[in-house]
Amino acid sequence: MNLGQSAAVTDPGRRRRHNEDAYVCEPPLFAVADGIGGAQAGELASSLAAAAVRDDSSDGRGDGRRRVDELIQEANRRVYQRQSEDASLSGMGTTMTVALFEEGRVWIGHVGDSRAYLVRDGKLEQLTEDHSLVAELVRSGRLSPEDAETHPQRSVVTRALGTDPDVDVDTFSIDSKPGDLFMICSDGLTSMVSDEGILEEIRRHRDDVRAAAKALVRAANKGGGEDNITVVFFELQAEEDAGERTVVLPPPEQEAGAETGDDATLDELDAVPAVQTGRRGRERREHPVRRRVVFVSLLLLLVLVAGGLGVWGLWRSHFVGAEPDGHVAVYQGVPWNIAGNVHLYRTVYESPLLTAQLSRSERKKLFDHSLRSESSAMDEVRSYEEQLGK
Ligand code: MG
Repeated sequence: MNLGQSAAVTDPGRRRRHNEDAYVCEPPLFAVADGIGGAQAGELASSLAAAAVRDDSSDGRGDGRRRVDELIQEANRRVYQRQSEDASLSGMGTTMTVALFEEGRVWIGHVGDSRAYLVRDGKLEQLTEDHSLVAELVRSGRLSPEDAETHPQRSVVTRALGTDPDVDVDTFSIDSKPGDLFMICSDGLTSMVSDEGILEEIRRHRDDVRAAAKALVRAANKGGGEDNITVVFFELQAEEDAGERTVVLPPPEQEAGAETGDDATLDELDAVPAVQTGRRGRERREHPVRRRVVFVSLLLLLVLVAGGLGVWGLWRSHFVGAEPDGHVAVYQGVPWNIAGNVHLYRTVYESPLLTAQLSRSERKKLFDHSLRSESSAMDEVRSYEEQLGK
């Protein structure tokens, strides 16, 4: 038995500006890592872990179980070491699911809530167990699988790479058959597309795993694209069907427009209002005087047209949104831009809370664009900060 087609696709999704997922698609090794710890730290953690797998120095020596365990241990060491050297990276971590094809078996090593699946005889089987709070509650019978799907803490992982010098890795193998299709993916797919939906896209594109991976990314974006989405496929075939083919799509920055079209575009009402340039504090310093003049004139015009009182009321209003680096923020004004890039709002408070730490429903509630008083906006953000220990 040989490896047949393989393919990998990653996409930032519709809500995140950064892609904290990373993958490896280097037959016979495949992996997905989903970073944790805020944009930069998460990206770094998953890319360090993926690099550790790519640097596999075993030259095929050692049994499969030991190799996948070793690869994940090495990934853990690299992430852990990096964060212990740099205080600004504290809390950084990553999930990691690795698959290795070796002599008719597929070895899986797994930590976190990314997943490995097997498609065999038209059925989709989840091979890995999520190391997440809700999965543990479901396993102990304290939460139904249906309630788990919408549980506010469903993105909390209980085991990850990079948090301790050693990590407990789940390892097991699957005795594979020709025609088996393996999929490794991040939770950005599985939280947005049901098992039936996944299977349907795979059936539709079974002859072309690259097309299947792209279709799944599209489906996840259609479902909301709340998180980064990564899908890696590889299939096994009988010896006589040789002709292995690997397709790796370019990074999403290069292909987003062409490949995913409208699906990749933020819907106006859906989008979290966010300031478009710079990191915290910097934007106001960089404002040229002229833009400020335009800003003030347009604002004055608006005041005249709409009637002073009404607009004054709006200007005194506040709303909750997020800065480009993912931090939740309270803005004064209204969530509109006029004349291109002139904002009718300004940041009055930036929270240590990251949008990624909120569940989908919490985000929906918090980022509903409704106008409120400063104290009501602040109270709501602070209540989430308290819940999450910020
Ligand atoms: Mg994720």
